[in-house]
Amino acid sequence: MNLLEERLRMVIGADGPLPLDRYMTLALTDPESGYYARLQDIGGSGDFVTAPEISQMFGELLGLWMADMWRRAGLPEDLILVEAGPGRGTLMADALRAMRRAAPSLADDHEIWLVETSESLKTIQKERLEGFDVHWAASVEDLPERPMILIANEFLDALPVRQLVRRGDGLVERAVGLHDDSLAIVEIEPQGDVPAGLPPMTEGEVIEIGPARAAAVRAIAAQIASQGGAALLIDYGHEMTVPGDTLQAMKGHAFHPLLEAPGEADITAHVDFAAVARAADAGGLSVHGPIGQRQFLLRLGIEARLAQLLKNADRETGAGLTAGFRRLTDPTHMGHLFKVLCISRTDIGVPTGYVTEEAFGTRA
Ligand code: SAH
Repeated sequence: MNLLEERLRMVIGADGPLPLDRYMTLALTDPESGYYARLQDIGGSGDFVTAPEISQMFGELLGLWMADMWRRAGLPEDLILVEAGPGRGTLMADALRAMRRAAPSLADDHEIWLVETSESLKTIQKERLEGFDVHWAASVEDLPERPMILIANEFLDALPVRQLVRRGDGLVERAVGLHDDSLAIVEIEPQGDVPAGLPPMTEGEVIEIGPARAAAVRAIAAQIASQGGAALLIDYGHEMTVPGDTLQAMKGHAFHPLLEAPGEADITAHVDFAAVARAADAGGLSVHGPIGQRQFLLRLGIEARLAQLLKNADRETGAGLTAGFRRLTDPTHMGHLFKVLCISRTDIGVPTGYVTEEAFGTRA
């Protein structure tokens, strides 16, 4: 049994079962034993792989997207570039490299803010982004009050969710308790607000709600509404609020039992983009999408970028680039499951990569 499991048993013994969102928070971000606190690698020898680790084209295109959005926002001088949950810093490094060619003053004269809780990842990010004016914040609420262009890839899926289950006429909450001296899922009275307007559920069906996700999105939206700018949120998930248990743990690129060896596996849950859009529903903002990652990257010109890179690539590098392109865009890989949602201030107009009809709702 690892140290975190010993501590969890003590907490459960003293206070009773832990709702899943609290379990997820401790397993992921506990400063000593949390998964991210100790994380060193993503892709390769790590437990999971992400789009920027698959191909440099992902970050490059997002760098050009940020430059374009900065222009559309009227080139604000005090604008900050933000990435939430930057992992190894690969996405921002690729983005800044592309930006230096397309909009050098944006890359070099603006502060870069990374929202990160993990000390081990901050060390890696610092090395990766040497030469840029990089700052860190522990949460999106702690960012300086300035116009911003924010990007986040697989950040929301790491923020904790609660799970409610339909039992008879009511709902109960899934929590981590002890059964036969092992950690086990138990059902308890709901431990917090139950949101209104949940979809109909049959007996035993699970619905996931993410108060921490909604709070993060509200903070991002409030800052954009008051200061200007835009945010691009990329994650895997669904367009509507639907029942389903999507909580999963990954270790060594394979599924891992959720309650086994807490802190040693990554834990995520699909993102409910309808809930994200509702949380972003503040005055003066528009929400576009979500659209599939395939469509978004094609619109940003990933095919042209691939062709350009292939011109100077040897055969092996070329095969890697083509394979990366396929994984990012193929509907059976990341092209459909991964979705891209944009929150922007209405003065920007339709954000780069979207069309008018994709507005989730435009509010005056
Ligand atoms: N965007 C990166 C990494 C995704 S992993 C990529 O695409 O490769 C999730 C990232 O979010 C990690 O950097 C992790 O440390 C960070 N993170 C997780 N929970 C967080 C929280 N509550 N607050 C801030 N950052 C968090």
